[in-house]
Amino acid sequence: MRQIATTAELQSAVAEAKAKGLEIGLVPTMGALHEGHLSLIERALRENDMVVVSLFVNPIQFNNKEDLEKYPRTIDADLKLIADKISAMDDLRATELLAFTPSVDEMYPDGEPTEVYHFGPVEEVMEGPRRPGHFSGVAVVVRRLFDLAQPKRAYFGEKDYQQIAVIRALLKQIQYPIELVPCPIVRADDGLALSSRNMRLSPAARAMAPAINATLEQAAEMAEYEDVDDVKEWVLDTLSSYHEVNPQPDGLKFEPEYFEIVDAITLQPIENWDDTDNGAVGCIAVWLDGVRLIDIVKF
Ligand code: AMP
Repeated sequence: MRQIATTAELQSAVAEAKAKGLEIGLVPTMGALHEGHLSLIERALRENDMVVVSLFVNPIQFNNKEDLEKYPRTIDADLKLIADKISAMDDLRATELLAFTPSVDEMYPDGEPTEVYHFGPVEEVMEGPRRPGHFSGVAVVVRRLFDLAQPKRAYFGEKDYQQIAVIRALLKQIQYPIELVPCPIVRADDGLALSSRNMRLSPAARAMAPAINATLEQAAEMAEYEDVDDVKEWVLDTLSSYHEVNPQPDGLKFEPEYFEIVDAITLQPIENWDDTDNGAVGCIAVWLDGVRLIDIVKF
């Protein structure tokens, strides 16, 4: 593993690899790595000759200043996790991993980028209207990373389900021949989707949080015999009233922001289970203990 902090060094390492005909896999992250990120890195190491993992807290995708300031920055621990993962793997294809850890100035030398991306319907639902500018900020950094790393494959987690649809739309717009590789959510043993935000939960909130996934799993079973609207309403009601059924300390409660059942590719809400040929996905955002958690379930 080699840590690289400048775009010039990354470009020259990539040029060298390309000259040798190596296939590059890219894993964009904001650091604070956990097993979810490591699953993407592991897959990239198995499927490519060289892997670029970026660790960059991208300021322009945060529409909430406090969230940006509170975002954990743990580069040394992250690099150790990656190194440990590499040494624990026996059948990896990649011969080199570059950990790209640029500063904000290095990534945006001309100051805050002015380009704005629009993706139409896939960004007009769920996270889009609630986090204005978020997906455009994601697209700016991901495109820059595509330009720098010139990957053959790029790995993204289904935890950020809508982000995958946005990257698919970005690739269509810019017509880069990059294979988008969606990777399944990695969960804690109790079902909570791993997230760097989980470390901001109090112990009581952390103990309550697995109810999100448990509720979604029950919803998937209900989908066998209930209508889309009934399943939606049940999920929102179950989480909103959770603290009444299970009294919590400190007034802890779930505050769902949305739960939508959508087409797995277009992300447009469906009204009936057979409204889609792509499969249906339930996407949720819930506030708990001042932390915004997201998760999905496939129907
Ligand atoms: P982030 O650092 O949060 O921007 O995440 C970097 C990448 O890791 C994104 O593609 C995420 O979707 C993915 N990711 C984050 N958490 C998980 C998880 N629990 N399981 C799988 N992928 C994840």
